[in-house]
Amino acid sequence: MDLVDKMDENEWNYHGEGNKSLVVSHMSRVLRLLKYSSEDAENAPQTTEETFRQMENIVDFSNNVMSPLLGDKFVHSGEVVKLPLEFVRQLSIKVQHHRPAWRCDKVMDIYSGAALCLPNLTTPSIPTHNPPLCVEIKPKCGFLPSPEHVSKDIKTKVCRHCMHQRYKVASGKWKRKSLYCPLDLFSGNRQRMYFAIKHLIEEPQNNFKIFKGGKCIHGDRDEMLSVSSLLQKLRPYFSCGNGRNKTVLHDFIQVSPTAVDQSPTPVDQSPTAVDQSPTPVDQNPQPLPRDSVLGRILQVQLLDSLDIEGLLPLYRRVEQYLHHFPKERSRLQIDGPYDKAFLEKLQKCPAEDDGSIEYAVAKVQQYRVAMTAKDCSIMVTLVPRRDEEDGSERAAFSFSASILDLDPKPQDGVRRQQRLDHRVVSAYLRDDPGPS
Ligand code: ATP
Ligand code: MG
Ligand code: MG
Repeated sequence: MDLVDKMDENEWNYHGEGNKSLVVSHMSRVLRLLKYSSEDAENAPQTTEETFRQMENIVDFSNNVMSPLLGDKFVHSGEVVKLPLEFVRQLSIKVQHHRPAWRCDKVMDIYSGAALCLPNLTTPSIPTHNPPLCVEIKPKCGFLPSPEHVSKDIKTKVCRHCMHQRYKVASGKWKRKSLYCPLDLFSGNRQRMYFAIKHLIEEPQNNFKIFKGGKCIHGDRDEMLSVSSLLQKLRPYFSCGNGRNKTVLHDFIQVSPTAVDQSPTPVDQSPTAVDQSPTPVDQNPQPLPRDSVLGRILQVQLLDSLDIEGLLPLYRRVEQYLHHFPKERSRLQIDGPYDKAFLEKLQKCPAEDDGSIEYAVAKVQQYRVAMTAKDCSIMVTLVPRRDEEDGSERAAFSFSASILDLDPKPQDGVRRQQRLDHRVVSAYLRDDPGPS
């Protein structure tokens, strides 16, 4: 699609960014532009054609691979658009001072004009009496690897995210450790999920954001709102606007797990009533509903069935084969095209290793797909509704959940993962005083 008609940078605002892309928004749409390391800025890392191909690959991967695996009701793949270069340049100047300092080691691509146009998931189309409230969670990996594939026992006891926290604090990436554990969020147990959300609010890092009226009010900022001023902003949605801080926090945390573990229902049909009185948290663990957004993500993450350590010999088999037969790269669809055949090969992978190159490729592709599911975000929209029939202190919410950031992970990312895994686990073991 060509967006040559008047694009006015004044209409578009900085919305957020990740490690790979920067997002601007205008009403019901967002544009997602690629970023690259500022060290490469002088010699743009790819040609314009390569950037467009990369964007098309992202859309194909989302449409033909991730959407069938996760459920098309959750996934919006968007479309590639060509923006006027002057618009992109003005935009990059305009957004610069809104960007968090720690993200500025990368710059926005101003050379290609390529962008992904997506629906703005933080501004739902349903009219609401309060500005819509959205919660974004980057849940990370929700399971422990099985002991048969890992060389270090600790990997079957402490989850990867928690081990990585220690590494990130030691290396200065974050000042404070987050107590968030993905195993809590994915447990399906209300009490554990409650704690997961509470810990995300307290130390969001890049795993948690809250948007009010389409604007990010918590998470991924240089300066964070204090919890009390955050609660001030959330108060109108809970306890009929006059709740104490503690109640507002409690109610907010209660709502979020309901949103991520309920099976999907159309947003305008059956609202889930949330009782404003303190709800007893279940004592019994409840398995995550398979059809819920979290359940779906976990199933795709589990395609990483061998752990990076078990995968490595298969990755080596693929690399050696490609070294000898470089032309086979395209037949084996190593870097795409991400079409129906790609998904089929990955799904029809035999359970046992038959020594073939096809088996090794399929396992590596399953791992890459799982990595995408470990890195994606969930955007939950909480649509407030007053429960008219019940004049008491009850508020009702409808939920809609989407999954975003479903880019394919590159083949050579497997190597990087293996090195990182080794560093994270070794650093954890070095610091761990062990059982006393
Ligand atoms: P990561 O570092 O997690 O891989 P990324 O660079 O791939 O991130 P995204 O996660 O896709 O980038 O986008 C960055 C941020 O922009 C998201 O965390 C989210 O807050 C916002 N965003 C992205 N897509 C949308 C959308 N369709 N609607 C609303 N906000 C969005
Ligand atoms: Mg992201
Ligand atoms: Mg990403």
